Amino acid sequence: MDPVSSEPPVDPSESRAFQRWLRKAGKVTGIGLTADEKDHDREEVQHRRCEKWKTELLNYSPSVVFMLKHLNLSGCPVPPSNVVCAPCDRTRSGGFHPAGAIILCQGHFGDKKHMEDTLTHELVHMYDHCKFNVDWRNLRHHACSEIRANSLSGDCRFMREVGRGFVSFSKQHQACVRRRAILSVRANPMCSDEAAAERAVNEVWESCFNDTRPFDEIY
Ligand SMILES: [Zn+2]
Repeated sequence: MDPVSSEPPVDPSESRAFQRWLRKAGKVTGIGLTADEKDHDREEVQHRRCEKWKTELLNYSPSVVFMLKHLNLSGCPVPPSNVVCAPCDRTRSGGFHPAGAIILCQGHFGDKKHMEDTLTHELVHMYDHCKFNVDWRNLRHHACSEIRANSLSGDCRFMREVGRGFVSFSKQHQACVRRRAILSVRANPMCSDEAAAERAVNEVWESCFNDTRPFDEIY
């Protein structure tokens, strides 16, 4: 995710901060405005595929539907129009804006499963923003949400034995969550260096890795 200063929830299409962020996150200049015909066609194909997968995931993905339900119950509903398919630079697959919107980087997904993981990841950030008083410029806050988003989304193959009241995390899973959380915190404009990112992740690891809300509430 790309943390930005928070602001009261508004319709993101009317939020100038969100539009600015969208332009910064993506090379969004209007599809095809600067690209040649071939790029234009490719972007259209990617955009249509992203929208199709998005609609399917919002309706049928167990993890996405589950997170949407809990966001709704928490007073922070996410309508489909707040999930935006857009072209981005190569380094990212998605992002979240505190105004209540998610960007899906339409050229980034080789398959629907990857998009499902990314969408669930961003919805965990949104849930944290809704439920807890998150200051995204505070590295420990950011680290905590990254640990949860990476652990719970499927980014690191969240192993859940549904219905048995048993949650198992492998060592590889933990290492993956840690590595990805450090990378994201490193990208926070308030983060001075790699060591600061590692420190923030280590400091909150125990409590945040073990906090699986809202996933633990169903058992
Ligand atoms: Zn993230």
